[in-house]
Amino acid sequence: MAKEVRVRFAPSPTGGLHIGGVRTALYNYLFARNRGGKFILRIEDTDQSRKVDGAEEYIVEALAWLGIEPDESPQKGGVSGPYRQSERLAHYRQYIDQLLAAGHAYYAFDTPQELTAMREKLQQEKAAIQQYGISTRMGMRNSLTLPQAEVEALLKSGTPYVVRLKVPEGQTLVVDDVVRGQVKVESAIIDDKVLLKADGYPTYHLANVVDDHLMQITHVIRGEEWLPSAPLHVLLYQLLGWQNEMPRFAHLPLLLKPEGTGKLSKRDADKHGFPIFPIAWHDPRTGNTADGFREHGYLPEAVVNFLALLGWNPGTEEEVFALPRLVEIFDLQRINKAGAKFDIEKAKWYNQIYLRQQPADQLTRQFLAEIKQKGHACSEAKARAIVALLLERVTFFADFWNQGQFFFVLPAEYDRQMARKKWGREVARVLSAFARKLTGERVADTDATKQALWEVANEHGLGLGKVMPGLRLALTGGSGGPDLMQIIKILGAEETANRIQKAIATLN
Ligand code: GLU
Repeated sequence: MAKEVRVRFAPSPTGGLHIGGVRTALYNYLFARNRGGKFILRIEDTDQSRKVDGAEEYIVEALAWLGIEPDESPQKGGVSGPYRQSERLAHYRQYIDQLLAAGHAYYAFDTPQELTAMREKLQQEKAAIQQYGISTRMGMRNSLTLPQAEVEALLKSGTPYVVRLKVPEGQTLVVDDVVRGQVKVESAIIDDKVLLKADGYPTYHLANVVDDHLMQITHVIRGEEWLPSAPLHVLLYQLLGWQNEMPRFAHLPLLLKPEGTGKLSKRDADKHGFPIFPIAWHDPRTGNTADGFREHGYLPEAVVNFLALLGWNPGTEEEVFALPRLVEIFDLQRINKAGAKFDIEKAKWYNQIYLRQQPADQLTRQFLAEIKQKGHACSEAKARAIVALLLERVTFFADFWNQGQFFFVLPAEYDRQMARKKWGREVARVLSAFARKLTGERVADTDATKQALWEVANEHGLGLGKVMPGLRLALTGGSGGPDLMQIIKILGAEETANRIQKAIATLN
């Protein structure tokens, strides 16, 4: 039997989750579901100085909103818990000790001043490789250079130390990446990374590898910014004796600015006026709140579909895939190598599609609630009719009100340009005669309404095209919108006549 697929989304709780992180989570989720495996949320909080209150809860809520909930997490628990790295320190210590005992790691006591002096010296010498590692470690204060008795004394006296990886010489490290193919790196360019910090917490690299191993992660799916770290991770697997159980790697292409060059940033999002977070993020450090896709009116289905195709392709021209369908067809082989340009218009397009797919009952109920909240009365039938009328024209739910408020609020003013161009005494006379002809029965039949308008216009020697813009102006105050006869049907004969009279009184 093939091994159960286990993947993880491993964010650091350092702030709001950017949309790129959401895509990483989504791809992990899709892959796990596609393979009947498990999707794990692991909180990587070993950098205590960067930890932000509320960030973990935020991540959990954002994933829930998108409908991509983990099978195992700090909240849900699971077979590989705990799922917060700060609660797993004993595990890391155990493997640090293993590496120390095997001579793959060493204690380093260098003070910040000594480290700075080393760096300055290397700079002055214009050394080819300027780092704490193979070429420099023997000139530093560590357990490789100090007598063992002194090392023991330093440890005993509580002198601050870190544990560093002893990178072996002359090795070629090979990352076998599903997306990138084979990436080879010489060990000589890797520095002796700190594995355990002076505060007793492991660094990202050690904790990440240890946890992926202990949690039996089969595939590491993460952003391309982690590709440079992958050779080091491969080395750690080797030195820990886990090379035969190494996960497969898949590094996802970058999300690019709308212009197509460079990595997408929050600044770009602000500049173009689109959100970068899935849901609103309140930053306790600044007190600021940044709205997310949810607050901008995006449906989670639309965000999911949009992100799914931002770095992956189904191999066909098809673009609309709801989550269950994505689960069916997703695979790592179709992840694109090239960066994906972030086109917010595409996200809007998806929103339109998913908004139209919402059940009419639900949209009607929601719209009725909004109308009431704006302080107007409305029957269910009327709300339903307006929803149906506007459905093909809206991108966000809020557009129902934005485009349909004239049904409840009399035009306070009339589009001036339109009035200048299309309003006149003759048009007013036609509309006045039209108003007199309106009855409840007639407006209920949009063909009959149109016929009546045509007749009165004709009697005054005008065509429909001459009077329609004026009629729209009178009823809505504006120059564009849905079918006029439908508008009249919803407004009713009396209200239509009133609005025509009011427009005549104002515009003539
Ligand atoms: N904690 C890392 C992050 O914040 C995880 C990277 C990885 O998936 O290995 O993105």
